[in-house]
Amino acid sequence: MPSIEFKNVSYAYVDANETHLALEDINLEIRDGEFLCLVGHSGCGKSTMLSLIAGLERSTKGEVLIDGKPIAGPGPDRSIVFQNYSLFPWQTAMKNIVFAMQQTNKQMSKTAVESRAHELLQQVGVADAADRYPSQLSGGMRQRVAIARALAIDAPVMLLDEPFGALDPMIRRRLQDMLLDLWKGSCCKTAVFVTHDIDEALILADRIVFMEPRHVIKTFDLPTDRDRTAAENDPVMRAVKEEVLELFEATETGREEE
Ligand code: ADP
Ligand code: MG
Repeated sequence: MPSIEFKNVSYAYVDANETHLALEDINLEIRDGEFLCLVGHSGCGKSTMLSLIAGLERSTKGEVLIDGKPIAGPGPDRSIVFQNYSLFPWQTAMKNIVFAMQQTNKQMSKTAVESRAHELLQQVGVADAADRYPSQLSGGMRQRVAIARALAIDAPVMLLDEPFGALDPMIRRRLQDMLLDLWKGSCCKTAVFVTHDIDEALILADRIVFMEPRHVIKTFDLPTDRDRTAAENDPVMRAVKEEVLELFEATETGREEE
């Protein structure tokens, strides 16, 4: 059974008294344990897809199912990392993680929660900054903490909306590797990652889903034994990259600006 399923899903919003569709008749199965990247121009509906899975928005038509059941709202089975603002600014890095764990693991002792939070901060390489507030952290460090927090919740589904979009290329590269290592180590979490960067998608994804405004137009399976070198040299990966870049060009006309 796929872990997440979009069945004939449309999503409409009202703007200036007119109804517009952000998604139209989407059908997509996201397999249990896969790392899926949603790719497409800005404004094509990627974040809306993620919000529907997160249960932050409800579809106007059709259904989004998780393990066969309609999604009724947010839940501890799904964690989210946004591009910005995902940490509570009034709590230290450590407290952000502790708080998230206390919300979802009510039976865990305070000592156990704190020691797990410390371990996670170590895993993402920011243990030294445990007592700093988000405003005292660099963008890269904030996103590391946000990822540690998502992992702390230990949800089977991780949703990530352009989490590295605002970071410089070297830091972004490091965090991609870190995320991939953590995901592989976590075993069997389903990840849905939004990006408009094909190179990022090639490094992370088991499958790339390309969207044009309101629609999924094509999906690409990637080799499982991929890495950075393969992303540049493997003929299958290169062909996928070529095709995705062509789709980007083909869908550019008339798109909304950011
Ligand atoms: P993406 O994440 O791919 O950039 P989004 O899912 O954020 O795209 O949005 C898809 C389109 O729907 C955009 O044009 C966006 O402006 C519009 N949209 C979605 N929800 C709303 C809303 N509640 N109010 C106004 N516009 C919205
Ligand atoms: Mg978006």
